Amino acid sequence: KREWQEAIIIDELTGAFNRKHFNQTIKQLISDFRRTSRIFSLALIDLDHFKKVNDTYGHLSGDEVLQAFALHVQESIRVEDVFCRFGGEEFALFLPNTDAASAQVVIRRIQETFSAKEFKGKNEAFHVTFSCGISEVTKSENEADKLVEEADQALYASKHAGRNQTQLFTELLTESL
Ligand code: C2E
Ligand code: C2E
Repeated sequence: KREWQEAIIIDELTGAFNRKHFNQTIKQLISDFRRTSRIFSLALIDLDHFKKVNDTYGHLSGDEVLQAFALHVQESIRVEDVFCRFGGEEFALFLPNTDAASAQVVIRRIQETFSAKEFKGKNEAFHVTFSCGISEVTKSENEADKLVEEADQALYASKHAGRNQTQLFTELLTESL
């Protein structure tokens, strides 16, 4: 790809793909799925208490955390996985050919390794965690908006249950039965 083509789908701060690319990718994966039944999972990720990081350590530290997080994720996933930044402290990860349970394995691995990372504050070191919600494309659920909404509900459930965790949308359904 030419440089200018890449520039318009890459988030400048973190090097992750941007929201525009997110929208293209979800459309592509869904049309692949309808044609070939190739499944994929979507993980929505939100850094925990990010506002507090900015307020306590300053925006430069906040940016550093975002960059370190993005780099860490990129190094922990497969080449075919697609990592995007929505803006702020919100991210999304597409995992092609991966069901929700396996996606949860991936995310939990990243949760463990990332939360162990030490960031340097003014006087003390600090750690950052993130919350995540996962949805999987299915025959009955293969609309982009719906998939995002499901993952978002699961993310909300993770936040609500105390953060630093990952929930599957399917688990929410079982609980509410
Ligand atoms: P595991 O690390 O416990 O991963 C279990 C399953 O989670 C994998 O099954 C796969 O379905 C999913 N998974 C884990 N990490 C990723 C990821 O970064 N992206 C995506 N899309 N899916 C992921 P699978 O493929 O049958 O692999 C079985 C085991 O083989 C893995 O168990 C791991 O121990 C090993 N393995 C496979 N590929 C790699 C690799 O590239 N690097 C390393 N270090 N181990 C690998
Ligand atoms: P890749 O598939 O692009 O994966 C990049 C990195 O994501 C891996 O680096 C590993 O840190 C992480 N990763 C991906 N899948 C898994 C997984 O299932 N479990 C765990 N624990 N981590 C995972 P790594 O391990 O240095 O591997 C570099 C490359 O070597 C991989 O790139 C892949 O092309 C190949 N590779 C390594 N192990 C396996 C394997 O067991 N099966 C296959 N098919 N390829 C492997």
